[in-house]
Amino acid sequence: MTLTAPGSVQADSAAGGPVPPNPARGLVCRNCGTTFELIAEHACAQCFGPLEVDYDRELLRAVTREQIEAGPQNIWRYSALLPVGQEPAERVTLDPGLTPLVRADRLADELGMTAGLWVKDDSANPTHSFKDRVVSLAATAARGLGYRKIACASTGNLANSVAAHAARVGIPSFVFIPADLEPGKVVQSAIYGQTLVAVDGSYDDVNRLTSELAETDEFEDTAFVNQNVRPYYAEGSKTMGYEIAEQLGWRIPAQVVIPMASGSLLTKVDKAWRELAAAGIVEDTPWTVYGAQSAGCDPIATAFEQGWDVVKPVKPFGIAKSLNIGNPADGPYALDAIRRTGGAVGRVGDEEIVQGIRDLARTTGIFAETAGGVTTAVLRRLVADGRLDPTKETVVLSTGEGLKTLSPLEPVVGPTHRVEPSLRSVRAAGLIG
Ligand SMILES: *Cc1c(COP(=O)(O)O)cnc(C)c1O
Ligand SMILES: [Zn+2]
Repeated sequence: MTLTAPGSVQADSAAGGPVPPNPARGLVCRNCGTTFELIAEHACAQCFGPLEVDYDRELLRAVTREQIEAGPQNIWRYSALLPVGQEPAERVTLDPGLTPLVRADRLADELGMTAGLWVKDDSANPTHSFKDRVVSLAATAARGLGYRKIACASTGNLANSVAAHAARVGIPSFVFIPADLEPGKVVQSAIYGQTLVAVDGSYDDVNRLTSELAETDEFEDTAFVNQNVRPYYAEGSKTMGYEIAEQLGWRIPAQVVIPMASGSLLTKVDKAWRELAAAGIVEDTPWTVYGAQSAGCDPIATAFEQGWDVVKPVKPFGIAKSLNIGNPADGPYALDAIRRTGGAVGRVGDEEIVQGIRDLARTTGIFAETAGGVTTAVLRRLVADGRLDPTKETVVLSTGEGLKTLSPLEPVVGPTHRVEPSLRSVRAAGLIG
């Protein structure tokens, strides 16, 4: 099964006239360069290297600002830069994207940052994390490839998004999660009435299990969004980069702080900006990419510090569960982007993560899940250590919603006063004289 070939004109588009071409011409191995058709594989048949979407560069370079701006108010405005074709037969999507880019002046002041600081608030997506971007791409590609069921191994947010996408279009989904996930993420996965399997093990165990399941006859007709259709899934993260540039008035920010689990999101924000610059949609100004991890799961941070090209797997722990991937598939590529742009990786412990969530909420009104606490706390660290330039424009990503991860906050925040329903009691509490 393959998706539509580049440049092929299948039928008339909804608007009449020929369907615009799919800019993706195949998959290419990042390791050995072997090319493949647009198939449902994530590993090279020659060398087992990771496969990535290979675009027709001329088609990408022909994309214009005007074309994007005329599109819908969601990620599909960038469809001429995405690998499923501009008018796929059926989109499997919650139409995520165009989430707020919030100016964070008070946080900047606290950190001694003198140029603009913005928070990209991806909690504003339909299932309240950035994962709706990648699932919309993966599920739509899966449909185009003939699959009628979707599945995933997840650290939580992916589970929420896969189950919701399946519910929206009425297809079955099979979601596998570590059994010790936060209750908010378990409920938000279960509520859509799909198959939800809690596995007694870590995310890396769950991931191994789903790779084995994908080889069974029972799951032959199932697309695992972050496994066999991973090349398409990963491209969805580019929309985060496109949006930041567009929302800044078609500019690339000088610095960006990105949370890392597998490392994929980080590589794709960087890729998005390279594409926009190559197409002349933005000026090709330099940018620096910073990665953020927790101390409980820091394999990419360690590789960065040690100067390694490979990433040594770890056994994760700690509250930043959405980022707890101990064996990050895109770690080496994230390291490449960070080193090429002169960036760094910051790591922060659980107390700093909680403080990061509180700082972000107190200064911006954005309530982030633990991943947003990681990026906010890493931003503070990088500024304090002199590794991030406080005189340059900076964007920090907040990739998920705080209501999903309440438990680390319950012991540290709550009502500031407790009173009886009487003025006397309010007075006694010191709120009035
Ligand atoms: C999945 C996820 C990420 C990053 O994922 P990558 O695997 O590095 O692409 C970041 N933040 C949140 C909240 C996530 O759920
Ligand atoms: Zn290869």
